[in-house]
Amino acid sequence: MRDATRVNRAGIPEAVQGAAYLPGPTFAAPYHAAGDPKTAPFSYGRFSNPTWSLFEQALSELEGGPSIVFASGMAATNAVFGVTLRAGDILVMPSDSYYTSRLVAQGYLTEMGIKVRLAPTAGNAQLEHLAGAKLLWLETPANPTLEVCDIAAMVQAAHAQGVLVAVDNTTATALGQRPLALGADFSVASDTKALTGHSDLILGHVASQDNAWAEKLHTWRTQQGAIPGPMEVWLAHRSIGTLALRLERQCFNALELAKFLASHPQVQSVRYPGLPDDPAHEIASRQMQWYGPVVSFVLKGKAEAEQFLHNSKLIIEATSFGGIQTSAERRARWSGDEIPEGFIRLSVGCEDIQDLLEDFSQALATLN
Ligand code: PLP
Repeated sequence: MRDATRVNRAGIPEAVQGAAYLPGPTFAAPYHAAGDPKTAPFSYGRFSNPTWSLFEQALSELEGGPSIVFASGMAATNAVFGVTLRAGDILVMPSDSYYTSRLVAQGYLTEMGIKVRLAPTAGNAQLEHLAGAKLLWLETPANPTLEVCDIAAMVQAAHAQGVLVAVDNTTATALGQRPLALGADFSVASDTKALTGHSDLILGHVASQDNAWAEKLHTWRTQQGAIPGPMEVWLAHRSIGTLALRLERQCFNALELAKFLASHPQVQSVRYPGLPDDPAHEIASRQMQWYGPVVSFVLKGKAEAEQFLHNSKLIIEATSFGGIQTSAERRARWSGDEIPEGFIRLSVGCEDIQDLLEDFSQALATLN
């Protein structure tokens, strides 16, 4: 089956006469479970839930490995750290990864005796730091720089030295890039973003190569209590049926806007892995099925970026990305990333491209 069909049907149970295609969310703390609890498929709501099971089935089909859903992308990230790292271990992370993942590594993990080495995503620079490491964490495309590294090459080098590899696949989604097929041990994502795409829930997941890791991740979730609500998971499952459609429109719009921005005199630089002359394009075109909905560009300074966002009629000013409505922010309003003051992280939605181009054009014209 092709991707659009796979994602449209992923995790949908066998037909039952008179039943809904996707059963509604199950809200339960305890379930009926008399006698030996092993005889009840579900016993307590922190251990398992039928709504999670169906969504995890969908994720497993998309990712190509058993998947566990978590309360957020950060809960998923921390689960991978939690099941792989112990005091004395070395973690190699991208210096331009999502800021909060780095905060956890440099804060909590360091305090717990784990050594953290940072190196940029671009140029596969983390490869230089693998000696003696336990886990190589990749994020490609990285948020917000949109730098890309070569997953298959990194995995090959890491595995040759006995290093596990996890890929934060948030910006691409499981349809845009398949880390497990490229050899990674874990594919991690914030499903708050493009996978679910409606800006109405917080969720995450981890897919792994084998059931032994999935078991450990499941135990971690149960013991840490990092569990999602059934309503969020059901909404997520309902939302992924349109993932291929959304990505098709969002990636088309993103490329058109990136081309427009690259040719505009007010724009100092643009990054989008789908742009043929982007430094990341060659690797991205080898390992990505879709280049994703996120574009970044730089205006002259803070004032120009703020004015552009203020004058746009269609861009929603917000953090986060991947939703069906176009949104953006001046990313340097948060600390933690080495980016210019005029850096804008743009998340391209499903609007008509002509309306977006006209709006961007008029908002940039106000900077003259
Ligand atoms: N990973 C990346 C690349 C992200 O951008 C984010 C959130 O922005 C996260 C992980 C964390 O996800 P969540 O906010 O769902 O916890």
